[in-house]
Amino acid sequence: MTTYSLLILPGDGIGPEVMAEVRKVIGWFETNRGLSFDVSEDLVGGAAYDKHGKPLADETMAKALEVDAVLLGAVGGPAYDNLDFSVKPERGLLRLRKEMDLFANLRPAQCFDALADFSSLKRDVVAGLDILIVRELTSGVYFGQPRGISADDTPGNEGGRVGVNTQRYTSGEIRRVARAAFELARKRNNRVCSMEKANVMESGILWREEVQWVHDNEYPDVELSHMYADNGAMQLVRNPRQFDVIVTDNLFGDILSDAAAMLTGSLGMLPSASLGAPMENGRPRAMYEPVHGSAPDITGQGKANPIACILSFAMALRYSYGLGDEADRLERAVEKVLADGVRTGDLMGPEGGTPVSTSQMGDAIVAALAAA
Ligand code: NAD
Repeated sequence: MTTYSLLILPGDGIGPEVMAEVRKVIGWFETNRGLSFDVSEDLVGGAAYDKHGKPLADETMAKALEVDAVLLGAVGGPAYDNLDFSVKPERGLLRLRKEMDLFANLRPAQCFDALADFSSLKRDVVAGLDILIVRELTSGVYFGQPRGISADDTPGNEGGRVGVNTQRYTSGEIRRVARAAFELARKRNNRVCSMEKANVMESGILWREEVQWVHDNEYPDVELSHMYADNGAMQLVRNPRQFDVIVTDNLFGDILSDAAAMLTGSLGMLPSASLGAPMENGRPRAMYEPVHGSAPDITGQGKANPIACILSFAMALRYSYGLGDEADRLERAVEKVLADGVRTGDLMGPEGGTPVSTSQMGDAIVAALAAA
C-alpha cells in the first residue's frame, strides 16, 4: 500500500487551531478510504523562534525536503513584530519556499454557490466561478539585481535619492512556470491565458514569446491566449468566468491573485499551493497553505474558519498524491456543509444566525465526507 508522507507545520496564532481540523479529515480518509499517511509535525515561525531562536530549524528544513508534501498553517503575530528582520516568523516561510525552489504558486478562486452573495460582485457574475492563477514565485522584480536605495544627484533631483528594482526573467524561468500552467490546464478546462505587459516591458515581450514557444512545441493541444495584465485586471472583475488557468509573473500575480481572491468572499476560504520541480518519485516538491495569516485578533477563541486549510489539504491530495477523486470528495463535502448553512463567524451574512466553532466546522465537514 502507498504511504503518503506529510510534514505539518501549524505555526502561530490560529495555525494550530485550523490544523487540528485537518487532522480530523486525514483521520477520516485513513479510516474510511484505506489511505495511509505518514504525518510528522514540527515548528515554524514564532513557535520555532521560541524554541530554537530562529523561525525554522535546520532539521525541519531537511525534513521538508524529504516528504511528499508540506502543509503550513500560518506564521507571525504581535509578539514577534519587533524581532530583527533576519529572525522574523516570515523568514521561516521564505526559507522553505526558497530552499524547496517553489517557483509556481497556485491560487484557485472558486466561488461556492452558497457563498456567492459574499462576493463584492453580483451573484450572476461570480456564481460557479472556478479559475486558477499560476504566479511565478521565485524571480522577477522582487528578486532582480540591481536593487536598493541610493543617493542621486541627477539634474532636478540634487541631494535626493533613487529607489531601484529590476524586473528580470530568463527563458528557463518563464518556460518552467508556463509548463506548470499547461499541465494544470490539461487537468481542467484546457485553456491558459498568459498575462504580462509586452506593450511596455522587454521582459514582457520575452515572457509572451517563451510561453508561446512552450505552447507550440510542447502543449499545442491546450488553448493559449495572451492579455496585457492591466486588461487582465479589468477582465477579472468584469467577467471572471471567461478564464480557466491564468499564468503570470511574480508582481502581476501578486496583485491579480489577491483581486481574484476577493471575488469569492472570505479570507477564511482560500487555499494555495506552491510547487517546484519534480522529485525522484515524479511528484513536484510542494507546500500547501491557507492564504490567510495567523489572525491574532481571534486566536484561541474557536472562531477561525478551518476551510482554507482543509481545502489546502485537498490541493495536496490532488497535486502531491495524485488522489484527484479524493480531493473532489473533500471539496464536495465543504460545498455541502456550506449549502446546509453551517457557518463560522467570518461567513455570517447580514441575516445573522449562530456561528459554529472551528471544531464544529471541522466535525461537520468530516460528517459530510461519508455522503460526498
Ligand atoms: P490575517 O489574515 O491574519 O487576518 C486578517 C483578518 O481576517 C483578521 O480580522 C482575521 O481575524 C481574519 N481571518 C483571517 N483568517 C481567518 C480565518 N481562517 N477565519 C476567520 N477569520 C480569519 O492578516 P493580518 O491581520 O494582516 O496579519 C496577522 C499576522 O499574520 C501578521 O503577523 C502577519 O505578518 C501574518 N501573516 C502571515 C501569513 C502567512 O503565514 N502566510 C499571511 C498573511 C499574514
